[in-house]
Amino acid sequence: MTESHSRVAIVTGAGRGIGAAVARRLSADGFAVGLLDLDEAAVKSGAEDLAAAGGRAIGVGLDVSNTEQVEAAVAKVAEELGPPTVLVNNAGITRDNLIFKMTDDDWDAVLNVHLRGSFLMTRAVQRHMTAQKWGRIVNLSSTSALGNRGQVNYAAAKAGMQGFTKTLAIELGKFGVTANAIAPGFIATDMTAATADRLGLSFEDFKAAAAREIPVQRVGTPDDIAHTVSFLVSEGAGFVSGQVIYVAGGPKD
Ligand code: NAP
Repeated sequence: MTESHSRVAIVTGAGRGIGAAVARRLSADGFAVGLLDLDEAAVKSGAEDLAAAGGRAIGVGLDVSNTEQVEAAVAKVAEELGPPTVLVNNAGITRDNLIFKMTDDDWDAVLNVHLRGSFLMTRAVQRHMTAQKWGRIVNLSSTSALGNRGQVNYAAAKAGMQGFTKTLAIELGKFGVTANAIAPGFIATDMTAATADRLGLSFEDFKAAAAREIPVQRVGTPDDIAHTVSFLVSEGAGFVSGQVIYVAGGPKD
């Protein structure tokens, strides 16, 4: 290792889907990884798999929208793996409905996990980054930030992630910390499988229909996102900050 800073990453929502793929990729890239998720068993088992493959990893259960749990989880990672210098705010949920049917709870739950969760995680981790004068923050936005029927809560949260990211880039740049957002299009995970289910479609039909509308003619995979994270947290990406990268198989605006 030639860098003067620690190579310790935290990935939220690492129990499955995109977060699990990001954790695997960062481990393969040589980072020690703290896998955080509501599902403690899933991240403990994920961390064991990474350790078995030669990496250093721990799994910690938490709700990212709970201040005490966030502080405790970040402290545990710092103590067991070293001070975290990479944070991937990936934990997410959907509670889709048209606005006239959307409940207060649907709204609050989505805003709390994505926005409050990313705020709490970032506030807790940035102190380790600024102390080491190096850090990389990657926030998961979505093409839904541009508007998507049935997702006023999720679209608002994912658009919020973009403003959050740009402001972090402005505030933390002088400490050697970059912040960027990835806005995925359709990625095949449990989240999109649940959407297919809600619409009464088989997942295979849903994916095939989505692929026809995507310029590269396929849906995305969690590894497509992990690859982009790997670039953004690399040493060489230090001049890329405050950006939103659409990873959607084609342009979005
Ligand atoms: P997923 O398969 O549903 O995984 C989400 C993970 O986040 C789950 O492991 C879940 O834990 C965890 N989580 C949820 N609430 C949490 C909380 N309060 N505290 C800690 N962990 C929590 O979703 P995904 O498709 O991988 O999505 C990952 C991220 O990418 C999300 O931010 C999502 O909005 C974004 N995204 C996804 C797509 C897509 O097409 N899939 C597109 C654009 C953006 P449990 O297993 O315990 O529920």
